[in-house]
This record gives sequence, C-alpha cells and structure tokens, in this order.
Amino acid sequence: MNRPSTLRRTALAALVLGLAACSESRRPNVLFVVVDTLRADRVGESGRERGVTPYLQRFAEGATRFEACHAHAPWTLPSCAAILSGRHPAEHGAGGNLGDGMRRLADGVETLPGVFGAAGYRTHAIVNVAFLGEQFGVTREFGGLDAVHFDSNTEVRRAETTTDAALEWLGEAGDAEPFLLFVHYFDPHAVYDPPQPFRRNFALPQDRDDASWVFGTRQQMMALRAGRLRPDAATLRRAEALYDGEVAYTDAALGRLLDGLAALGLDDDTIVVITGDHGEEFGDHGGFEHGHTVYDELTHVPLLVRAPGREAGTVTTDVRHVDLAPTLCELADLAPATGFVGRSLAPGLGGGPLEPRPVLAQGNMWGPALTSWRQDGWKLVREPGRDRLFHVAEDPGEQVDLAAEAPEELSRLGKALERALAGFQALAAGSEVEVQGELLEWMRQMGYAGEGQ
Ligand SMILES: [Zn+2]
Repeated sequence: MNRPSTLRRTALAALVLGLAACSESRRPNVLFVVVDTLRADRVGESGRERGVTPYLQRFAEGATRFEACHAHAPWTLPSCAAILSGRHPAEHGAGGNLGDGMRRLADGVETLPGVFGAAGYRTHAIVNVAFLGEQFGVTREFGGLDAVHFDSNTEVRRAETTTDAALEWLGEAGDAEPFLLFVHYFDPHAVYDPPQPFRRNFALPQDRDDASWVFGTRQQMMALRAGRLRPDAATLRRAEALYDGEVAYTDAALGRLLDGLAALGLDDDTIVVITGDHGEEFGDHGGFEHGHTVYDELTHVPLLVRAPGREAGTVTTDVRHVDLAPTLCELADLAPATGFVGRSLAPGLGGGPLEPRPVLAQGNMWGPALTSWRQDGWKLVREPGRDRLFHVAEDPGEQVDLAAEAPEELSRLGKALERALAGFQALAAGSEVEVQGELLEWMRQMGYAGEGQ
C-alpha cells in the first residue's frame, strides 16, 4: 500500500543527495572574454561619461572591478600569451618584432586550457586574429579552436557574429562536464568602422551618416609606420570618435552574450572574466594605435570578474594579467601549473585587500625592446640607452620624466627590474614563426609588414 510513497521518498532522497553531490563536486564553468584594443578608461569613468559601455557598466555592478589591471605587452601576441600561460613575455617567448621576426609560444609552456582540460573541462576558444590562431601556439591547448581571420583589415568576424558563435557553442555544450570558453572580440582594433547605429551615436557630426570615412586602413597604417602620415589632433579626435563607436558596438554584442549566458541558466555556475589585451593610443604620448610603447594608454586594461557566491566590489591595487590563471585555478579548486608566476586575486573578489606586486611590461612590435617596471607608485620605462621615470601615483598620464630629479628611485626600480629579468627561467625564447604566404599577406594588409618585405 505504501510502496508508491516509499518510492517517491526514495526518489526524492536520491534527487536531494544527487543534487548535493553534484553541487559539492561540480567545478564552476568559466567564460573568459578578451576584447582586443580596449582602453581601461572606456570601461571606467570616461566610459560612463561617454556612454560607450552601458552593458559593461551594468555588469560591473555585480562584479569585482579591478581598476588598476596591467597587461604585460602592448600588442596581442605577447599579451594574450601572458594571459593564457600565466608567464611574462621574457619567459613565454611569444612575440618578437617585425625586424627580428615573430615568435610563437615556447614549446613546453603550459597554459590555462591545458590545466582545465586535464581536470575534465571542455575547453574551447573563439578568436579573430591570426596571432591567436594555430601558427602562434597561444591557443594550442584548447580542446576546440574556432579561429577566423581575413586577409584584409577591412574585414573581420564582427562582434555580433562572434557572439552568435559563442551562444551556439554554449547551447550545444551540454552539462556533462564544466566548460572553459574563451571568446576574443576584435572590433575596437583598427580599422575603425562602426556599424549603425553606433557610428551615428558616436562619430563626429560629419561622419555620422557617411560611412566613407574610416581610420586605420592598410594604406594609412603603412604610411603612419613609414613616417609619411602624422595625423593631427583633429584627425585623432575624429578617429577616436569612431573607435568609441566600435567599443559601444562590441559592448552591445558582449551584452547579448552575457544575457544569453543568463538565459541558459548558467549565471550561478559560471565565473565570468572580462579584460582587454592592451589599449590604444590617441596622441597620449604623441603616437597612434598600439604595439609601440609601454605607457599606460597601452598597458592599463579593464578587468571585471564575477564569480558565483562572491560579492561585487572594487580593487584599486595594481594587479596583472599573470594573476588571472592562478585566480581561475583557485576558484575552480585546481592546482595551478608550476609556471603560473602570478598570485591569485580570489581574496580580492568583493573588494578585499590585496598586497601590491610590481608590474612588468615588455615588448615593441615595431623595433627595439621596451620594458617597464611599476612599483610603489613609480614607473620606470626603459628604452635602449634611456630610462624614464614617472611618479604615476601623482602623474598617471606619465607626462613628467623625473629620471634626473629622482635618481634614488630610478636606481631602486632599475635594480628591481634587473633582478626580476635575471630571475626568469631562461626558456628558449619561443620558436621563430616563418611568416609567409597567407599570413604575410594578412600582415601586409594590416600594415604590419612593409611593401618590400
Ligand atoms: Zn590586440
């Protein structure tokens, strides 16, 4: 007589136990978003004032906003390699420059998707630039790689199509195992050509309805790098307005991805990380675009982290891209790879205190190596044969070189930088990538390679 109710009780108990076991053993999903060429200020105060990132502003209200996050390189390849390998450019080997050759990620360097894949995660990357494709090794440990790039810099898989690809993958991922999904948006990168209504909303009046004026074309980039084009302040403002349109367009597409994540019921089980690989210069130090300096307009990037069960908050302490891999390992209860040199930011989620750590940036896509070392409110910028020193705590724009006025600080930071560089395990500095065929053509189209190369 009471069999059905016993069965029901047993089923209910099994369900409860099953859910409990599931919630105890289930590791969180990870959605890791990198927006190419996204200046930190567009997600901060300036972004609020300009209205270019309404979705990210709303997302930030439920996340931890790291206001002083620093990339380790001013261009995509070495920066994304640092994000995914948890190592600095001097160690992971990916990068180089156009004169000496490009290098892929050094053999044997472990990466975040390798660690998560070994723990049973389903891992997948959706990327939109050749530097993140198969040739350069940065994404080699993802279980799935959806890499798209075009020969022309006027074509790109747009943000809305990238979001479609990510939502399609999420919809088909199933729940047999947790996932790590890495999504790279390329749109804010030159050429600036925002679709409507974003052009209308952000371009200067003469460009709002006329899409014929774009900036950052192949011809312009090549002329710029050859020194034949020096955009004046008015042109830079005009270009920057179009850049804002691209940022706003990407913000909307990223918002649709985050809404889709919620609609799939995944919000409570998914860590979301949103950052940029580097910024963009609009005359801050007399230049344009990126890859060519290690000043903050290129190395200061946004970082928002939302993790299940963690409060929202704000962290103003300097944090670094190498800290992200250890952070995700801690949040997923995974042992970090031995090469992950950063520290976990998990204690800072919700705004908890974090010990400051020095920040190293390296790289120059166009020429001799540039290095910076940031510590205790000071920043040393080392070019071959010249050191500059900025008191970034009081001069965040790095406008006043105090190298001559503060020799003790200069010496202290210089020694710390040299110790750090000497301490790096001497990895094989990557393997040179033979740049030819389709890739060389793409680099020419992007203005990355000269006509005669
Ligand atoms: Zn980039």
